[in-house]
Amino acid sequence: MTLRNRGKVYLVGAGPGDPDLLTVRAYRLLQRADLVLHDDLNPPAVLAVAGPQTVLENVGKRCGRKRVSQEEINARMIEAAREGLEVVRLKGGDPGIFGRLAEEVEALQEAGVPYEVVPGVTAGTAAAASLGLSLTDRRTTSRVIIVSGHSAAAGDPRQKVNWRALAPHNATLLVYMPGNNFADLRRELLEAGLDASTPAVIVSRAATPAQQQRAATLDSLDRLPPMETPAILLIGRTLTTAQERLSSETLSLALAEVGVSVSVPQDQYL
Ligand code: SAH
Repeated sequence: MTLRNRGKVYLVGAGPGDPDLLTVRAYRLLQRADLVLHDDLNPPAVLAVAGPQTVLENVGKRCGRKRVSQEEINARMIEAAREGLEVVRLKGGDPGIFGRLAEEVEALQEAGVPYEVVPGVTAGTAAAASLGLSLTDRRTTSRVIIVSGHSAAAGDPRQKVNWRALAPHNATLLVYMPGNNFADLRRELLEAGLDASTPAVIVSRAATPAQQQRAATLDSLDRLPPMETPAILLIGRTLTTAQERLSSETLSLALAEVGVSVSVPQDQYL
């Protein structure tokens, strides 16, 4: 008797953490998968979508004490697909944005294992949506620049962003993995000619019940408080209303703490 070998790997974006932000395709695949290889970023609420027969395996880089290497993850995907399993390789956000998708696709291609990539809602768009904002605005902002904190400032010079050449003033910057030291980024963006009053917002745990955000301007960027991870830093003119609203909320909170209540006019809200 020969069994049809349906072994295949689906490289699936799980979105920012809210199961409602899974695509229908991701949802269906999670429900019917034999094996889900997931990251630390994938919260229990998303993993709970998996079917009763689905085996969940954490291959997060910080899983337990042992670090699971990229080679081990690749080998595990290939082995499981060759056993005939339907494998979901689940990644936070969109698998194609800082998700090591390229390395996994190459390994699957080399091994001749069928695969499919399923896009997801990336942290940057989820964070902007949670603030009720657009990342582009045809009046002011024609570009969105996605960078990782490692390349945004300092770090490996070969990976460094040339902010002057990019002329970031008509762009929204999405800084993934921003860390919590923004002094270099602030200096480089100011040197590149970005206005000191450009709004910046850091959004921690976007699209989850634990979401928190803080606003600053480019000038006060280095004074943003450290936030719980994962967090993403957004910088650009399109954030003006969020910056005004968050600053007035911060002011109301500060005044409330000293026993003063203020009413902020509705038109300051989005
Ligand atoms: N593939 C993911 C990004 C992986 S890199 C995506 O498309 O979203 C990990 C970084 O993503 C984190 O350091 C953080 O900057 C960002 N991130 C992921 N989920 C997030 C969330 N819910 N809220 C804020 N930032 C998030």
